Amino acid sequence: MVGAGANHGADMGSAPAIQGYFKMALERTFSIIKPDATRRNLTGKINAKFEDAGLRVVAQKRIHMTKAQAGVFYGVHAERPFYDELCEFMSSAPVVVQVLEGENAIAKNREVMGATNPADAAPGTVRAEFAESVGENSVHGSDAPETAAVEIAYFFSGIELVG
Ligand code: UDP
Ligand code: MG
Repeated sequence: MVGAGANHGADMGSAPAIQGYFKMALERTFSIIKPDATRRNLTGKINAKFEDAGLRVVAQKRIHMTKAQAGVFYGVHAERPFYDELCEFMSSAPVVVQVLEGENAIAKNREVMGATNPADAAPGTVRAEFAESVGENSVHGSDAPETAAVEIAYFFSGIELVG
């Protein structure tokens, strides 16, 4: 676009305007590649499934959570019978925490993950292919925009999110 205000139609179609338009439709979700998967060296295979589905890894790091940190993260499940075992498991080995970006990223990621119990997970999903049990099920993914925002902020600062 050459010359400010020369043509409003061309202005609307300029590259920054188009990028701005599409960015508005993008959503971010929080994801964890769990200890059972990092132990078996599956980080790349799982990321390939996300990327093949159109999800972009816009932040990622490998950490080893303490049991207390896992306990805060899964606080919503504190009253559930599996809570203690879940926190033990999540702090048993390194995990890869990540932010995935894409259109309808929250729902799309849940689709790629498959059902919580791998026995119920659709063929081709991460959990159908890789999960070992209902507890050791390879991935976590946010379930709603509110939880995604809280979970992203628990592990990442704004400057670490590069879309
Ligand atoms: N979980 C478990 N036993 C159960 C249900 C869940 O160990 O009966 C674990 C499992 O690792 C699951 C996590 O707790 O991923 C969180 O449960 P949620 O119901 O939120 O499932 P998700 O959102 O991960 O599919
Ligand atoms: Mg959940």
